[in-house]
Amino acid sequence: MRAMVLDKPGQPLRLRDVEKPRPSSGQLLVRIATCAVCRTDLHVVDGELPDPKLPLIPGHQIVGYVEEIGTQVESRFNVGDRVGIPWLGWTDGDCAYCRSKRENLCDQARFTGYTIDGGYAEFTLADARFCFHLPDRYNDVEVAPLLCAGLIGYRSYRKTGDARRLGIYGFGNAAHLIAQIALYEGRDLFVFTRPGDRATQQAATQLGAVWAGGSDEMPPQKLDAAIIFASVGALVPAALHALVKGGIVVCGGIHMSDIPSFPYADLWEERIITSVANLTRQDGKEFFNIAPRVPVKTKTETFPLEEANTALDRFRAGELSGTAVLLI
Ligand SMILES: [Zn+2]
Ligand SMILES: [Zn+2]
Repeated sequence: MRAMVLDKPGQPLRLRDVEKPRPSSGQLLVRIATCAVCRTDLHVVDGELPDPKLPLIPGHQIVGYVEEIGTQVESRFNVGDRVGIPWLGWTDGDCAYCRSKRENLCDQARFTGYTIDGGYAEFTLADARFCFHLPDRYNDVEVAPLLCAGLIGYRSYRKTGDARRLGIYGFGNAAHLIAQIALYEGRDLFVFTRPGDRATQQAATQLGAVWAGGSDEMPPQKLDAAIIFASVGALVPAALHALVKGGIVVCGGIHMSDIPSFPYADLWEERIITSVANLTRQDGKEFFNIAPRVPVKTKTETFPLEEANTALDRFRAGELSGTAVLLI
């Protein structure tokens, strides 16, 4: 089968003919239709995340069809079913985290397109327990960005509780999806972009944000919560400074530059800083339940599999107008 392979971080992916995998116990063999490109793929390819499997097939927002079923697979999947394969690929089910409904923190977790092979290929294997059925209202391209930007964005959003005034720093793919849910649930949305990025600010107000401005500005009212989707550590003290007492800042990314120091007074009065790591299957269940009801709409730009490097380069340069989706 054809696959785009990372031999060494910092190098472009190479188109290769690799052996088609065989499903073992508990696994599905999936014929891949689409795979959306996530910022985390960039971090993996650029060597910003430690110890990837090498050589590696990246990609963890996979939409495909069950081609073959290994032994001991639960009956919720049949050959031909459409499945979504997310970032969380496997957990031990047995550590202190797994036993307390925090499988996203599992000590032994394996991650699709990072520590196990992912979706920049014609086929992949997936542990059936971690695959999702996908809502019918979306086609294979539209639904792909929901599998990480949507899911992990949703986990970040849920951490803000019932915050009425919600700030979002960085208005990329995840933010755009989560903003739609926040508006659907009646939150007042404040969007922060790169200073001077009028186009993105306009897009945010068109979507329904009550205010949009630069990340160097203070919002007209203090925020109950803020989510940071940009990987810029300096936004943490900025967001914290914009919070009411008891407010929360949620860092929604897997990788962020260092956070500069800030006065303790900005944390005082029970303000909270937290991060979001990975996802649980429960997050997926809830998200794929609410997303079609909103309905959350995705913006995509498609590329053939063999142009994955172009997609990554354009993502890195900020030149994409939607989530890049590879057509396999
Ligand atoms: Zn575990
Ligand atoms: Zn991702």
